[in-house]
Amino acid sequence: MAVNRERDGFHHPASEADLVALVKAAHREGRNLRVRGAAHSTARAIHGDGDAVNVMLDRYRGWQVRDRAQKLVEAQAGIHLGADPGDASGSATEERSLLGQLAEEHRWTLELTGGITHQTISGFTATGSSGGSLKYSANENLHAIRVIDGRGDVREFTRDDDDFYAMAPSMGLLGVVSTITLACTDLFAIEGDEAVAAAGSCGVDLFGAGDARRPSLERFLRDTDFSRIEWWPQRGLDRVVVWRARRVQPNAAFSPTPYRRFAGDAVASQQLIAALYAILGNLDDLGKARALLEDNFDALKRVLRTMAGGPVLAAVLAGATEGGFDAATRVLEPLAPVIRRGIPDFFPRLADMFVPLDSDKHGAERGRPQRFRDWSWRGLPMDNEVNHQLLPTSFTETWIPLPLTGKVMRELKRYFGEPGEAESYRRTGTFVWEVYAAMPTPFWLNPGYTSGTDEWRHGAFRVNPYWFADSSADPGEALFGGLWDLLRDKGIPFRLHWGKHHPSSASGDRRWVDFFAAQYPRWEDFLRLRTERDPGNIFLTDYWRDRFGLWDART
Ligand SMILES: Cc1cc2nc3c(=O)[nH]c(=O)nc-3n(C[C@H](O)[C@H](O)[C@H](O)COP(=O)(O)OP(=O)(O)OC[C@H]3O[C@@H](n4cnc5c(N)ncnc54)[C@H](O)[C@@H]3O)c2cc1C
Repeated sequence: MAVNRERDGFHHPASEADLVALVKAAHREGRNLRVRGAAHSTARAIHGDGDAVNVMLDRYRGWQVRDRAQKLVEAQAGIHLGADPGDASGSATEERSLLGQLAEEHRWTLELTGGITHQTISGFTATGSSGGSLKYSANENLHAIRVIDGRGDVREFTRDDDDFYAMAPSMGLLGVVSTITLACTDLFAIEGDEAVAAAGSCGVDLFGAGDARRPSLERFLRDTDFSRIEWWPQRGLDRVVVWRARRVQPNAAFSPTPYRRFAGDAVASQQLIAALYAILGNLDDLGKARALLEDNFDALKRVLRTMAGGPVLAAVLAGATEGGFDAATRVLEPLAPVIRRGIPDFFPRLADMFVPLDSDKHGAERGRPQRFRDWSWRGLPMDNEVNHQLLPTSFTETWIPLPLTGKVMRELKRYFGEPGEAESYRRTGTFVWEVYAAMPTPFWLNPGYTSGTDEWRHGAFRVNPYWFADSSADPGEALFGGLWDLLRDKGIPFRLHWGKHHPSSASGDRRWVDFFAAQYPRWEDFLRLRTERDPGNIFLTDYWRDRFGLWDART
């Protein structure tokens, strides 16, 4: 093999020729080959099985202008959109990122980013990722994609080829993406605000048809350039954080007022939240919580000083400060059932500390939404400040035809509201539910795909529950499955984000495979193309076999 596996277990090609050689060798040897971007997707969606050739593109991060007049930029697959603090090479800085360099050198950018820009261009595209907008999409910037198929042959697809629309997303199943050519947008800025309010009295009628004073959620999503809502639906809390922005052309004197994700010290706030979730997420396995807490000892002391509720937890944490973690978690162990029963009582009060209502805020901004303005590529990724080492998060993201927005919100409200307290908390979990939207698109397996005449033609409404990834339970069973089953039982069509959690299907179990196949008119076209482009199934892993029902296709 031309490029050897290094000590980290990955192959690190530095050119397209290196990539081709790796693919040819994998094809010859009948081995899996998978490429890793920034590894923000669920792990099994990325890596290969068994003795796979796993590839990291940290030496393949260049870019060049292909046509200045058309603003065409060809980016190598491994370049990050923005800075990636988790990048092992340490070289994924903002200065070396695609968006940073485009802005600095050409005053160009993309139409939209996701809530973070830590991703690579190829990982973002391969999963069909998108920010929150029904007016703008980075899919509009995609101009051409160069791919190495399963035999090592290279081809470039452009917008004029039907097969181009199989590529975003392609989940690495149609070949290794070598370069992506983008038709860039002139640099622009955004300005907006973020308001924290009770769900029932916020500026958007989340569950109803809206009126002259408050738009319905669907209307709000349609009319706002960029938006996302974080919904804390837990009983006793029921709070929303409404982030919205509009596109503006800055004048020469433009001076950014960046968005602040956390009110105080960002690291301390996240340590505090992580400490709480380490306990709440591991009540069945406090040994795991102990390891997580040790890293956050100082933050725990601060928790104690400020904590209003959760007396049992407070007492135990007090023990931690005196006797250390072993002592604390030993005290905690027998109290786990008490803490679990007490969650509905103390959780709203704890959460109130990290999502305070605007009306309760003190200081200069008292009672007012936060206002911000920034360059789009810095301001649109509003979650870049979240530290994913401290607060590792998993998700499942359901995409639903936009006209069903109100119905889905009412179903969720009923689903959370109808049972007793304990069951209600099981259904909501103790983390946030993100709701936002995306434009319709002709890309075949994009969860926003539309034929142009179907119910998806207005765009997609997205519901994205969060899960603290260091919790001991399986999120599919503990939280996400409830959402999937609810939508399915109510006859609501939905598709799932390809980089986030999906229901697991055992070999031969077609229940979910057939459901999702029926959601995508071009599902079979995609599978036909996959067989053509990867005859040796070197890009196919067990994870993807289960998603597509391809159990007979062996590598
Ligand atoms: C904190 C957080 C916030 C997020 N916010 C959003 C959001 O706002 N909107 C949204 O839509 N999604 C969001 N996501 C999901 C994220 O955008 C996707 O998981 C995306 O794929 C991550 O890109 P990556 O570079 O990490 O790719 P990876 O996760 O490493 O890879 C994604 C897939 O692409 C394949 N792949 C990567 N490069 C290549 C290549 N060159 N050739 C062939 N296959 C390749 C991989 O094998 C894998 O299957 C978020 C995820 C996290 C963790």
